[in-house]
Formats: sequence, C-alpha cells, structure tokens
Amino acid sequence: MPNFVVNTNAVNGIHHVHDENALCQHLPEPEHRRSLGWFSSSQGAIHEAKKTFNSADGCKYCAQG
Ligand SMILES: [Zn+2]
Repeated sequence: MPNFVVNTNAVNGIHHVHDENALCQHLPEPEHRRSLGWFSSSQGAIHEAKKTFNSADGCKYCAQG
C-alpha cells in the first residue's frame, strides 16, 4: 500500500496529499511533509489529512482516486 504524506504548507488554501512512494515531482520538501501512514487509497489518506487541516485534497498527479 502506498505511504501518504500531506504538505504542511497550503497551496491556494489547500493541503495536498501525495503518495510518497510515487516519486511525485510535486512532493513538498521533507520539512513540509507530515506522514499520514499507509492507506489502500488516496481517499483514506485525504480523510486522515482533513482531521488536521480543514482543506485537504489529493495531488492530481499522484493521489487521485
Ligand atoms: Zn503528488
């Protein structure tokens, strides 16, 4: 299962969730990554991120669906 991280820096008000193993080119710098853990889908990771940040969404490059 992919390991998801959330960007602690909001971009346009949204904290994006990324799959850390996907080698996404939009991954935040390490100091701006907060680990969300392992989820079978990005939806679970986004739900987890929303416990911390009001507005979170999946990165359109690595965490869609
Ligand atoms: Zn990404």
